[in-house]
Amino acid sequence: MIEDVIERAATEDDDAIEELSAIADTDPRRLAPHLGLLLDLEVLCPAKLYRAADADLVRRVIEQIDSGRTPDQLNDLLMILAHSAHPSAESAMRRWSTQPPAGSDELHVNALGYAHEGGWAVGADGRRRDLCGDTAYRWVMRETAPGADRPTCPWCASPLWVAADLDTTDAAIAAALAHTGWSGRLVIETCHFCACFTTLYSHVTPAGGTTWWAGNTRPGYLPDDDEPEDPPALAPVLGQALSSPYQVSAWDRGGSTLGGRPEWIQDAEHADCPGCGDPMDYVGLIGGADLDDYGEGAYYLHLHQPCGFAAVNYQQS
Ligand SMILES: [Zn+2]
Ligand SMILES: [Zn+2]
Repeated sequence: MIEDVIERAATEDDDAIEELSAIADTDPRRLAPHLGLLLDLEVLCPAKLYRAADADLVRRVIEQIDSGRTPDQLNDLLMILAHSAHPSAESAMRRWSTQPPAGSDELHVNALGYAHEGGWAVGADGRRRDLCGDTAYRWVMRETAPGADRPTCPWCASPLWVAADLDTTDAAIAAALAHTGWSGRLVIETCHFCACFTTLYSHVTPAGGTTWWAGNTRPGYLPDDDEPEDPPALAPVLGQALSSPYQVSAWDRGGSTLGGRPEWIQDAEHADCPGCGDPMDYVGLIGGADLDDYGEGAYYLHLHQPCGFAAVNYQQS
């Protein structure tokens, strides 16, 4: 039955691609026995279909890249390897980062940079790090009382928005944040308006402290004639546990999640930590559709516990 869907996907049938994507999000291993067929039929996108790729499939993709037969597919094939997160994919990507394969001149990042698409990275110390956790919860929006004297954004004067208020004394929250190493209360405060234009950083402490990072650099293209705007009167609270870390949507209502893996609207954008330069750990996603009836885009929350930095960035179509 999955074979039929794959045959249809090969004819660029959007419904079939959707169907396969839904399986990749709920139980990627169900696709594992069929990935060879998917590759044979050149259904390379979306690369997340290949999350459960095994050693054989990964070897085939590496051979295809090394052969130089399909330089125009290099981007898609690297995306597949990144999503597989397989150790052999990692070693090939390390090799290609110094010996670029055919087709590399068309790429915007080097081969190892693709790791971010699969939620992992090789740090400055040369060690591999997973940027995301495997435990995820739905994030449900609750109304918040308009706070008196909330701190305001130094750029646009809008009151800052508490995008997350978490405490690892709750075992569920501790599990969702386990990959970050955070222990204690975590408050991530940002400007809902300016975060749409650039990554905004804050210093955070395990006592729930949060302060705007003085090193945030105001982009020249930020509108400067707008009136201050109230942030969403909503904040995420813990909802149901999700059976897969991929059950997230940056587009649909009810898609906001704590933990798990992000769905990127554009290319992966794991923020770099201003303290150490390494990519930060992913905390969660708040979809615009959960904030507003006409909301779009998504806010992505990040944390680097060793340096005490949190970050929020935003993507839209
Ligand atoms: Zn602002
Ligand atoms: Zn850092």
